[in-house]
Amino acid sequence: MKITEIHTAEVRGHGYSCFVRIHTDKGIVGTGECIHGGAGIQDIIGSLGSLILGEDPMNVDRLFEKMRRARVFDGAASGNFVTAITGIEIALWDLVGRATGLPVYALLGGKFRDRIRMYCDCHAGGDDSPQANADKAKEVVDLGFTAIKFDLDDLQSPAKYDAFNHTISNAELDAMVAKVAAVREAVGPHIDVAMDLHGRYDTHSGIRVAKALEPYNLLWLEEPVPPENIDAMREVKQSTATPICAGENLYMRWGFKDLVEKQAVDIIMPDLPKCCGLSEGKKIASMAEVYYIPMAPHNVCGPLGTVASCHCCAAIPNFLVLEWHWLERPHWHELVLADPPLIQDGYITLTDRPGLGYDLNDEAAEKYLRPGTRLFA
Ligand SMILES: [Mg+2]
Repeated sequence: MKITEIHTAEVRGHGYSCFVRIHTDKGIVGTGECIHGGAGIQDIIGSLGSLILGEDPMNVDRLFEKMRRARVFDGAASGNFVTAITGIEIALWDLVGRATGLPVYALLGGKFRDRIRMYCDCHAGGDDSPQANADKAKEVVDLGFTAIKFDLDDLQSPAKYDAFNHTISNAELDAMVAKVAAVREAVGPHIDVAMDLHGRYDTHSGIRVAKALEPYNLLWLEEPVPPENIDAMREVKQSTATPICAGENLYMRWGFKDLVEKQAVDIIMPDLPKCCGLSEGKKIASMAEVYYIPMAPHNVCGPLGTVASCHCCAAIPNFLVLEWHWLERPHWHELVLADPPLIQDGYITLTDRPGLGYDLNDEAAEKYLRPGTRLFA
């Protein structure tokens, strides 16, 4: 079997996702998805894809390394080059699954679990009062989710003196505590609650937030400090009983190496359809497992990228929970051919069908294309 054509489609979602479709001389086709590759991702995928035309798609890891090493001098150690390769990698896994009649999780070594626990990223909307957040939390738990996440930082907060300075004000901290207290009160003690700071605080401020939130038994506090300085992250982690999670902007094993080896976090959160794909994601999970660090992947992808993440999450022992970020974007469900809808009671159940097990709804994808682009042109 040989790869004959690679096509892409940019579809609106959380920003834009890029779907990748790979054709072969045997008529078998695979489709993948990546996200956060930025404008120009279709050109990058087109250029990388030309490197594997004529190759056997069964050699997924080899093709990944062929593309990456060919573009290292252009920056393919991280960023949108790796994201582009990731979209191709996920399409290759779908293709190999369809060629062999096996689901992707089986190709990755088999599954530890049949269904993947999702957490819902929530926003109260315009009214960011503790009550509005508590109401939203209850609404999402009523949908069946057993884990939820809210954004805690707010650059527009009147309690913030300066949007660029990383030091928290006392009023800002009080507002955060009030919000977390209201959410915890609303959902009770047994729903997992995570809070995200988006790396917008300095070390001392991050420590203050983490310690102030200790009474609320968070699932994690996400990225209290920016991700570039692992030692600062470790300082926050070592200061508090609140678990610290980070890594949504890191790429490949080398991006996670110091974070894991220095045990600077309690939980890692690679964004698999952005930072590496499924094979590399499994290797990152294995590296973390050495230190008993669980993996809770970040995910803002459309349905195919999300299902791809689920296959990796099924195939690793140390999976914790996977993000779903499309509560306010109902066209997520339109983009995939799935009946009943993919997420049931806060879980995605993997099927035994070949490849990713689900198909993109091309007609729906066409409706949400990036203006001026074409579907799998
Ligand atoms: Mg985050």
